[in-house]
Amino acid sequence: IELKDIKKIYKKQETMNALDDISIEIERGEFICIVGKSGSGKSTLLNIMGMLDKPTKGSYYFQGQKIDYKKINDLSERRNKDIGFVVQNFALLPDYTVTENIQIPLDIAKYPRSDRKKRVEEVLDSMEMATFAKKFPHELSGGQQQRVAIARAMVNKPKILLADEPTGALDSKTAAVIWACFEKINQEGTTVIIVTHELEFAKRCHRIIEMEDGKIKSTNN
Ligand code: ADP
Ligand code: MG
Repeated sequence: IELKDIKKIYKKQETMNALDDISIEIERGEFICIVGKSGSGKSTLLNIMGMLDKPTKGSYYFQGQKIDYKKINDLSERRNKDIGFVVQNFALLPDYTVTENIQIPLDIAKYPRSDRKKRVEEVLDSMEMATFAKKFPHELSGGQQQRVAIARAMVNKPKILLADEPTGALDSKTAAVIWACFEKINQEGTTVIIVTHELEFAKRCHRIIEMEDGKIKSTNN
């Protein structure tokens, strides 16, 4: 990932840009944490990396290719196939079972129909959630729901996994389990980028990016 002079300006903001000339390079296989105070631009940055939002100015290169924000279909295909996204409140569909929730990205990708079940089972296994396949989200604990959401994010084997405060709604013991999941996914080769307030966990990643007032305040290796 390469971001060059990225600015994000919301119309109603007069004093400060949500992102102010952000330039950053992220290599394949890195494990990065983004930290900083509330309002510093962490979610805006992550959403731009995840192609959920577009910058006001600047360019975004993904695998050496410049993102063209006019090509809506390309953007959705990339979001579906190359990017996994996890949020604080899991965002599972309540009327769908665990299996059905995880299968959605495969349906969108038109993954071979006969192989979908098998792929869902694989990813459920890797998250140690196989016994919950037929349950509904409300039957699961917060930590289990987040593991389902991670499984859904990983089902299309994305190149990068992005997470916005994924353990913000969980107790510290459960948070540790979720962090272990992210570490395993990274060790298996996926680039992982997590917005977090949990410095204890963040210390274990490769690089911490600290945001302040829409700028990168510091990065360490
Ligand atoms: P963080 O995730 O670090 O808490 P955000 O990226 O959500 O910060 O927000 C950065 C800044 O942009 C804040 O000042 C916030 O109020 C503003 N902002 C975020 N989203 C919007 C929006 N949709 N419209 C207007 N301002 C926004
Ligand atoms: Mg945020």
